[in-house]
Amino acid sequence: MKITFHGAAQTVTGSQHLVEVNGYRILLDCGLYQGKRKEAFQRNRDLPFEEKNIDAMILSHAHIDHSGNIPSLVKNGFRGPIYATHATRDLAATMLPDSGHIQEKDAEFATKQNLKRGEQPVEPLYTQEDAYNSLSYFESINYGWTKQILEGVDLTFYDAGHMLGSAIVTLDIEDRDAGRDFRLVFSGDLGRKGLPILRDPSTIDYTDILIMESTYGGRVHEAMQDTAQTFKNIIQHIVKTKGVLIIPAFAVGRTQQVVYMLQKLHSAGEIPIIPIFVDSPLAIDATAVFRMHPEAYDADVREYMQTYNDDDIFGFEKLRYTRKVEDSKALNTMEGPFVVISASGMMEAGRILHHLRNRISDPNNVILITGWQAPNTLGRRLLDHVSPIRIFGEEHRVQAEVQKLNGLSGHADTNELTAWVEAMEKRPRQTFLVHGELEPAQALKKQLEDTLQLERIHIPDLHEQIEVL
Ligand SMILES: [Zn+2]
Ligand SMILES: [Zn+2]
Repeated sequence: MKITFHGAAQTVTGSQHLVEVNGYRILLDCGLYQGKRKEAFQRNRDLPFEEKNIDAMILSHAHIDHSGNIPSLVKNGFRGPIYATHATRDLAATMLPDSGHIQEKDAEFATKQNLKRGEQPVEPLYTQEDAYNSLSYFESINYGWTKQILEGVDLTFYDAGHMLGSAIVTLDIEDRDAGRDFRLVFSGDLGRKGLPILRDPSTIDYTDILIMESTYGGRVHEAMQDTAQTFKNIIQHIVKTKGVLIIPAFAVGRTQQVVYMLQKLHSAGEIPIIPIFVDSPLAIDATAVFRMHPEAYDADVREYMQTYNDDDIFGFEKLRYTRKVEDSKALNTMEGPFVVISASGMMEAGRILHHLRNRISDPNNVILITGWQAPNTLGRRLLDHVSPIRIFGEEHRVQAEVQKLNGLSGHADTNELTAWVEAMEKRPRQTFLVHGELEPAQALKKQLEDTLQLERIHIPDLHEQIEVL
C-alpha cells in the first residue's frame, strides 16, 4: 500500500491524501488549499493526480479545507462515489455551492483588476453549477455502519466530535500484494469532549496505520470557561446599557452552538427575553441541515428536548433569522438591547462588517469573539486591542467592549490528541502527522514518543509518497 500526502502536509489546509492499494486509488478528502491567491489558485486547479483514475473518495467532514475542491475533482473527470456521513453530505450541499459562488465572485474581481492592467480575464476555479453537479456523486453512510467500498476495502465512520457530521475514517483492508489484512485510520479533524450539540470523539480500539491531525500539537487549550455564566453576564450588561451584543461566528457550527446555548438559557429563564438575530444566509441554510440531523446530536441535546418538550433547538420566541438584505439593514438603526450573530467568524467579510462599523464605537456595546482568529484578520486585531481599526476603508475607534469566549475550539489540543492515541488497545505501528504547521506537528511527535513510546512517527512533506509496510 502507498500513501501520498497531497495536501495538509506541514500546513492545515488543502487536506488530500491518496491511498493506493490492490490496484485501487482512494482519495481521503479533497480540500481547498487556502493561501496567497495566485499560488492557491494554481494548486487547486492542477490536482497532482489523474482525476478520472481515482476509484473512490472519502470525505471526513464538510469544512472547505477538506471538501472544497470536490467540484474541481468532478469537473476534471472523477466519476466515482464520494462517501460521507449523512450530515456531511447535506452540509456539503449548502457549503460547496456557496464556495462556488465565492469562486465566481473572486474571479470576477480578479478579471476587473487584470483588464485594467491589460491582462487576461480569470476563470473561476469552479462555479456554483460545478458544485451542484458534484453533489450527485455523494453516497452517504451512517456512523458505525461498515460498507465494502471496493473489493477488499471496508469503510466505517466513527464520531470525530469536530463538527456536525465529522468522522474518523476507518479502512479495513485486505492487502493482496502484502498478503495480509490491516487497518488504516484517518482521524480527520479531531474534536473535543463536551462541545455543545456534538457527541464526543470516539475511541478507536486499534489501528495499524494512523494518519492523524496535529493542529494543536504542543498547545493546550485554556480551560473551558463557564460559557453560560459569560452569556448571562454580558446579556444582563447590555440590557442595562441598552447596548447591542455582536457575536461574530462561523456560519456552520459555531453559530448553531451559540444559538443552542442561548436557547437553553432562555428556556431555563436565566436570561432576560431580548431579540436575538441570526444574520447570515449561509448560517440559516446550515441551521436547516442541523435540524435535519438529530441522529448526530449528543445526549445533552436529547435531554434538553425532553425536559422542555422542545423539538427545535434552533428556534425560540424572539429568535429571528434574517435572510433578506433589507431585514439585515433594518438592524443598523434598531435600538438595543438585542443580540446579533453574524459571519464571517474572523470578521474578514460578510454582514458582520456592517454591524461592526455601526456599533464598534459605542461603549454600550459588546463584541464577543467565539473562535480562533488567524493572524492579520480584523478579528485578531480586535483581540489584540488595536484601535482605531479600518472597516470598508474607514477608520473606527474601538469603544465597544471586546470579550472572548474560550473553550469552544473544535480541535483537540495536544494532550487530548495524545490521550486519543493512548486509549487505543493496540497502538499503530506507523503514524503520519498531517494537518498542522511543522512546529506543532513536531511537538506532537515528541509528545507521542515521550509519553506513549510510539515509534515510527513521520511528518510527511507535500506530495511525499510512502510505501507502507
Ligand atoms: Zn475541520
Ligand atoms: Zn481542517
